[in-house]
Amino acid sequence: MYETEIEQKYRDRANRMVWFCIASFCSFRAAVELLNGNVRSAGIIAVVSALVVGTFLFLQKKRFQILPFVIPLTMYAFYLAASFAMNSFKYLYDFYLLILIIGVTYFSIKNFLALVAVTQTVNLALSIFVLPNHFNEGDVWVHFVLLFGASFMLFMVVQFAVGKTNAINKAFASFGALMKITPNVLILIDNNNEIKYLSQSVQRVLGIERPENLIGRSFLELFNEYSVSEIFSEISKKRSFYENHHKININGQIKTFDVFADKMSENEADGMFFMLNDITEIVRLKELAEQDSLMDGLIQIPNRRAFDKQIVHEWNRALREKVNLSFLMIDIDFFKSYNDTYGHRQGDELLKVAGKVFNSNLKRSTDFVARIGGEEFGVLLPATNSYQANVTAERIRRSVEEEIVLTTTGERTNFTVSIGVCAVVPHKGLEYSYIVERADKALYKAKQNGRNKVWVAD
Ligand code: GH3
Ligand code: MG
Ligand code: MG
Repeated sequence: MYETEIEQKYRDRANRMVWFCIASFCSFRAAVELLNGNVRSAGIIAVVSALVVGTFLFLQKKRFQILPFVIPLTMYAFYLAASFAMNSFKYLYDFYLLILIIGVTYFSIKNFLALVAVTQTVNLALSIFVLPNHFNEGDVWVHFVLLFGASFMLFMVVQFAVGKTNAINKAFASFGALMKITPNVLILIDNNNEIKYLSQSVQRVLGIERPENLIGRSFLELFNEYSVSEIFSEISKKRSFYENHHKININGQIKTFDVFADKMSENEADGMFFMLNDITEIVRLKELAEQDSLMDGLIQIPNRRAFDKQIVHEWNRALREKVNLSFLMIDIDFFKSYNDTYGHRQGDELLKVAGKVFNSNLKRSTDFVARIGGEEFGVLLPATNSYQANVTAERIRRSVEEEIVLTTTGERTNFTVSIGVCAVVPHKGLEYSYIVERADKALYKAKQNGRNKVWVAD
């Protein structure tokens, strides 16, 4: 889908060379006629060639699309006129030119160049072997020289165009390969925000079935305009743009992209390129891993790391809002002997049950429980005063007391917890460790006072 434009460019360039050849051919022929004293013939040639060159320049200025067709047609007209001027029709050339017209009109540049090469060889052969039998000697050598010169020039055209086309094709082949294999979405847009090229990956990443249909269409059509409006505004200002983790709605599915846009070159007219790196999956895995690292592997509730983050977050919020933050430090009583009696495995089971009981006794969505040590748990109760915290702690203590933990052998076991409670309205200069230390001290008191107790720090 990318070849037409490049082909067109080099076809045009080859055409210009052909035109240059025709102009030289005309001048040369007119000069010869003048030297032979045929002023009238020279005049006709000069007028015809001026018309030919004028038409060419006009058409080129108008960016005439079917230039390849017009060139040989005019060339043909010129040959006819020149033949008239010399009072001799060269029908064979007429055929040759007709073939050229048809060839150029219907074939691509490679075929065109091959055609020129073949017809020019035929041309030379004709001038050497056929013409001497039909024209007087003077005409023949003039013809021969002219055709030889023209052939040589066309040969140069072929050389030049083929060389250029090959070089361009080579460069373009790597570019095309990149466009095909890159997992990123790569889009080249021109100065009017129209899409010039896109990578194959748009099929997979953006769910576009026929990317080639987008060539020449507006870049804005590609996306839900709202999602990428900032990028578009930067692009319409022809400025570079880079943003990590940009969410874009792709057919109703929110995907995450690193987005990058820049000018193709210093020349604004060259347009811009735009790159989307789909990191949806990477971000998902990263978030999963992060979540994982904040969870306790054994009992699937938040771990110490998560707790440390959460307490800072809640402490700062309570500081801003000047409200209470309550903290319960819960420790399982005589856990060592439970382990010793029923085994470490059963101890683990008990920890799981404990986590569930604590969780089920927390009412607000902002309440937060974490395993902060071996058989120690921390509970954060935002916007909760010491009275309310005490009620919650008491509720937890009682639930634990009533909980039956079955062993693998079907034995019914139970356990108790001691809870240290502390409620604080944080103020400047007070560290969050204060609430932890005070709850820890309260917990110690609860243990000292016989365990299975709630103790509120005073
Ligand atoms: P106290 O009433 O004073 O809290 O007594 P305790 O036995 O509960 O306290 P202590 O600190 O002496 O013992 C805690 C025990 O918890 C020791 C340790 O083996 C056990 N433990 C810590 N982590 C785990 C764990 O992940 N699984 C199991 N099964 N036991 C654990
Ligand atoms: Mg302990
Ligand atoms: Mg304990």
